[in-house]
This record gives sequence, structure tokens and C-alpha cells, in this order.
Amino acid sequence: MQALVYKSAWDVALEERPVPEITQDHQVLVRIKATGVCGTDLGIISGKYHAVSSIILGHESAGEVVKVGPAVSTLKPGDRVVIDPTYYCGHCSLCRTGRQNHCIHKAVTETGVSADGTFTDYYMTEERFLYKLKEHVGYEEATLTEPLSCILTGINQIKLLPNFRAIILGAGPIGILYSYALASKGVTGSLVDISSERLALATTIAPERWEAYGSFDAAVQAASSEDQQVDLIVDTTGVVGTQVLSNLAHGGYLMLVGLRDGLSSFNPKEIVDRSLKIIGSIDSLGTFATALYMIEQNIVPAQKIITHTFPLEQYQEAFQALGCNIGERTLNPSSQAIKVILQSS
Ligand SMILES: [Zn+2]
Ligand SMILES: [Zn+2]
Repeated sequence: MQALVYKSAWDVALEERPVPEITQDHQVLVRIKATGVCGTDLGIISGKYHAVSSIILGHESAGEVVKVGPAVSTLKPGDRVVIDPTYYCGHCSLCRTGRQNHCIHKAVTETGVSADGTFTDYYMTEERFLYKLKEHVGYEEATLTEPLSCILTGINQIKLLPNFRAIILGAGPIGILYSYALASKGVTGSLVDISSERLALATTIAPERWEAYGSFDAAVQAASSEDQQVDLIVDTTGVVGTQVLSNLAHGGYLMLVGLRDGLSSFNPKEIVDRSLKIIGSIDSLGTFATALYMIEQNIVPAQKIITHTFPLEQYQEAFQALGCNIGERTLNPSSQAIKVILQSS
């Protein structure tokens, strides 16, 4: 099978790899049909996010069951499925205290980061990480389940009220999905992006009653012209940090979901005195089935959010659509795409 393999920063290539063999009773072999390109993939390729050399990239994926181990009871060959790529053992101290998204084995089990991923033709997983697709849900749409699930896990950490004023920094796929997840709870707000191309796209894709602005200040002004305060700021860019805290209302939340190194400072007294919450959230925890339901019900309009689809062989064009030029080794924040999908043939 052909597989998109990461070697080192800016060094990725399609390689021939053997199809994995079932060796355990609960394993399931999936024929990959579609995998979403994620910001994590761009981070790995551009050297900003660590991955293990020679792993196959890709983790937001759906496909068809082709073989099942002897103990698999709920799936059979031919079943259409979406893959939860967040492996957990269920036995370690973190798994047994409700933190399966931080399973201690993650350093060697994270799909497309420290274990082989899904930008390929076949992927081996276990029955417990697969969810059957309803007939009307396409493989491409189903790939949004994983990022949406991560977002729902983040939102579960917020005591959200429908009258929260929300601002999302970054109108990429995570920003747009965040806006829909918040809208499903009755929250309105705005998306902010410095790329005018993305902003124009976001305006057509964002949920009803959501606005898009080219600067944080403009979004704050629109949300609250009297006191410049909002209740929730979600930073998907990783570049903003805590300088936005002065625009958080008392008791407000700063949700950080952009995976990027950086330093940011805050005044502990301000956090205490104004009951502010700074929250980080990674991967998904008990939200995968709900995310799939939201895609099935079109609460999140996956078709609208997927702007580009390429065959796996055209991975360079796919990454380029997201501003990542592998040949020139450049990563540009501007992009004419929201969600880009790679299809395996
Ligand atoms: Zn992802
Ligand atoms: Zn564990």
C-alpha cells in the first residue's frame, strides 16, 4: 500500500508499506477512504510539532472494514466506519482517573504522530475505536468527527451559558467547527482572522448570526461597545496568548487550543480577583459519539466546511491549499481553503 511517511521537517514522501496483518482478537483492518488534513499535520511537516520519524501521517479518518479478528462481534467486512484515533489502554493511572486522552502510552500510540496513521490505504485498529456510519453520511464528512470531538471535549470544560459573548481567534477548520459547536448550545459570537481570503470564506460558512472580523479589537467592539468585555475567547492560532485577558469579563474563559510553542505572561492577582479561567484542551474524551451525531444530523454542516478534496497522490497540492508549500519549505497563514480532505483510492 502507498503511505505518506514523515521523515523529518519538510521531508515527507509517498512510500510503499506492507498492509498490516491482524494479530489480535479484537483488531479490525480498515480500508481508508478519506482523511482530513489537520493543523497538526502542518505543524509536524513544518517542524513546529514533534512526531516520530518514519511514521505514516494522518488521523482524521473514515473507511470500510475489510477484515476482523476472531473476537470482534459488532463489525463485519463491508461496514462503513469512522475511526477514533485517540488510543488509550484503559488500565494506566491516567485512564483510570478519567483522563484517557492523556493515557501514559500516548508517546508511542498517537495515530499519525507517534504511531502509524491514515494517509494510506489500510489502517489497523481495535473494534472499540470504530463507529458505524449511517448510510447518508459520506466518508469525507465523517472525517470531521475527530476534530469536532476534540472541540466538544474542550467545551465540556466551560460552564457555558447561551448569552455568553464569544470570540474565536482563527477562522480555519477548528475555528469554524468551534463556532458550530457553540452555536449548537445557543451561543453567538464572532470569528477573527488576519487572512482576508479566509475571512471571506468564513463569512459564507459560519453559523447563522455569527460574524467575522479582521481584527480582535473590531470583534470586541462589535460584541460589547460599552465595556469591551466578552465571556469566552477561544484561541485556535496558538499565537495570541494571555494578552487578551483584559477583554475577558469577570468569570470569563480563555480556551487555548492552538498547538504552538511560545511564552505568555499573566498577572496571578488578576486571575484570582476577576475569577478568570485559562483552559487548555487536547484530543477527545467521551465525546466521539456525540460529534458523529452532530454530523449525522447536519447540526455541523460538514459538506459546507470541506472546501477541497484531493487524491492521496496529490498530497503536495492539498497541503499547498492550506498555505504549506513543501517544495519551498514555507508555511503561510493565509489560505483559500477551510477543510481539505485526502482520498485514498
Ligand atoms: Zn486533527
Ligand atoms: Zn492508559
